[in-house]
This record gives sequence, C-alpha cells and structure tokens, in this order.
Amino acid sequence: MKGFDYLQEQLDQMKDEGTFRELIPLESAQGSRVQIKGKEVIQLSSNNYLGLTSHPKLKLAAEQAIKEFGVGTGSVRTIAGTLKMHEEFEQKLAKFKHTEAALVFQSGFTTNQGVLSSILTDQDVVISDELNHASIIDGIRLTKAARKVYKHVNMESLEQALKETQNYRKRIVVTDGVFSMDGNIAPLPDIVMLSEKYDALIMVDDAHASGVLGNNGRGTVNHFGLDGRVHIQVGTLSKAVGVLGGYVASTQTLKDYLIHKGRPFLFSTSHPPAVTAACEAAVDVLLEEPSLIETLWENTKFFKDGLTKMGFDTGISETPITPILIGDDAKTLQFSDLLFDYGVFAQGIVFPTVPKGKARIRTIVTAEHTKEELAEALNAMERAGKELNII
Ligand SMILES: *Cc1c(COP(=O)(O)O)cnc(C)c1O
Repeated sequence: MKGFDYLQEQLDQMKDEGTFRELIPLESAQGSRVQIKGKEVIQLSSNNYLGLTSHPKLKLAAEQAIKEFGVGTGSVRTIAGTLKMHEEFEQKLAKFKHTEAALVFQSGFTTNQGVLSSILTDQDVVISDELNHASIIDGIRLTKAARKVYKHVNMESLEQALKETQNYRKRIVVTDGVFSMDGNIAPLPDIVMLSEKYDALIMVDDAHASGVLGNNGRGTVNHFGLDGRVHIQVGTLSKAVGVLGGYVASTQTLKDYLIHKGRPFLFSTSHPPAVTAACEAAVDVLLEEPSLIETLWENTKFFKDGLTKMGFDTGISETPITPILIGDDAKTLQFSDLLFDYGVFAQGIVFPTVPKGKARIRTIVTAEHTKEELAEALNAMERAGKELNII
C-alpha cells in the first residue's frame, strides 16, 4: 500500500545510523532466566524486581478471578466497568500507601497523563526535573499550564524556578522518585522543604520505587519518612508489582476530581478482573514476604560491588537499576550482543533514550536471581568488557 514513503525514509535512515531496533520476543515466561532466540540467558533487563510476574499467589488470584468474573469488564469505570474488586483494591492500596485514597489507571503512563492534564490550567505552572520520565513530559504537554524545567536533582535550580513563579495560582513540582536511566533517588527531603517554603504542590512518580524502596516497598516518600507531606504519589503496578496498571495515592478530593476529569480513566476500559486480583495479591505479598525486598537489595549490592571491582563505571546509581556506562552507541550495542553470546540478556540504551555519548547497558537485578546466576553474569561481563577494552 502506498502513502507511507515519508515514514519509511526515516526508518531507512535509522537503519543507516544503526538506531533501528527490532523487538526481541521472549520464548518463555519472564524470570531470572529466559529463552530468547532458542537460547537460555540470564535476564538483566526487566523491571520484574521481585519476580512477582510469576509468583504463585498472583497467578492463583488471577485464575480464580477469571473463573468467577471472566476476562473483561466491558466498560469504562465511570459507566458500567467498576467491579467491587476495583474499589476493594483501591482501598487496600490507599491503606498500604498511608494515604486517604487511591485511584487506579490503566498504566503508569496514562496515570501521569490523566493527572497532569486534568488538574492544571493556564493559571498554573508545572516545575519539572529535566530527566523526568516521558509520561510526565507528555502529561505536561497536555496541559495549558506554564512550564519550568529545573536541572536534574539540582536544588538551586529548583529554588530559582520556585522564586520565578510566585504569581501563578497553583504551582506543582514534579519528580521521578527513582530515575529510570541512572538509578539515582530524587532528593525528596530537600524538594519537600523547598516546596513547602514556596507553597507548591508536590507530585512524585514512584514507578521504579514501588515495591523497591520504603517499608514493604511503599516507595520513596515512605523511605524518607515524608508520609503526609507529598500531595500526589503516582506509581506503577507494572514493574515490581509484576502486573499492569498505574495509581494515584492522594486525598479523597483528588480522587473524586480525577474520576470526573481524568481522561484515560473516563474514556478507556477498566482493568480485567485477573489484573486487579493479581495486583491485590501483590500487595499482600509485599506485606507478607518482606524477605523478597531484602533479597533484592542483597543481590543489588553483590552485583554492583562485582561490577565496580572489575572496573566498570556504574555512575550514580543507588538502587537496583545499575547502568554500565560505555559512552559510544555502537560499542554499547556490540557489548550487549557479546553478552548475549555469553548467556546474558542486558539491553543497550542509546541515543535518543539517553544523550549522545551517554550510551549504556542498563541492568536490573531481581530478587529471583540466585547468587550463582549473578556470578555467572558477572563473569560474562568481565569477559565481554575485556574483549572490547571497556575494562
Ligand atoms: C515505567 C514508568 C512509567 C510507566 O509505567 P507503566 O505502568 O509501564 O505505564 C511511568 N513513570 C516512570 C517514572 C516510569 O519509570
């Protein structure tokens, strides 16, 4: 069919530049070892922090929900698609997050779009860290609010932005809780202090902190002892929680408002029963099996220490997200390919996801990895790293 030449040209250019990516299908369930292209490899690229994608309690909850309630809901939440279990899960989530209320969206991405696009007008301003996630950036694009971007985790830059925006009706400071490419944690105590000083709202996106940081994985707000001082906590149910979805944990007022104005909530069908039941089981697992989070952090330390001892540059990471900084795009992809040959799946992240010259392999260890698997992965890293003169 004719008509897409203008797109094909761009794809061809991406192929010339080596930035065209094929999707890489898994031939097995997600896990510490997966099968790709007929080969069993150690998975270091998933967000499955706690191994919950295959946890027996989640699978059982999903199966039972399908048996009793079927596979779909047939409507958006606001018309005929709210099941009792949706509301029960939101209550459980609010209690878990120590907030008055919680509201679930279809994904973390749509949560950021729904929240930012609905609560701000042209009388308001949003103040955003320059390395915030794409879904925050897109959420901001959907508002008529003015925007200020402050330098990454730079509190002087944030304060400057707060000083320059004192004439707006509402100001909201937005940050990732954990930054997904470098694995560093936002300096929330300082952000909260400054936002309180200048009377701004605060929104934290804990996609990479839900199930990872804080008591039982409650997130960065709880990790820093800031419960009750952050107006909006966004999180995902698709990473450590192991299933699918996004949520806002906040006040009843914001929840009620979003039910009326949050466009993805209003205009896109609600989660199937299996998803909601599995998410609910995941919160139980977080409460009942804190050892999973302990193992995740032990594994993180073991793996990071191993990489650092070998001489790899792991940047400013403080979490299970451990980048191996290489710099050159082509060399990064070559390193990733070599790792695959040696039995490790660790995707390269290159321009435009990260700036030119900042290409990296991004690894995330999980609670599911055994020490033997991590040692095997480290051996592969050492071998490939030496071969390419990275270490
Ligand atoms: C992954 C991520 C999201 C998107 O969450 P999904 O549930 O996968 O849509 C949003 N924000 C941040 C910071 C993320 O890392």
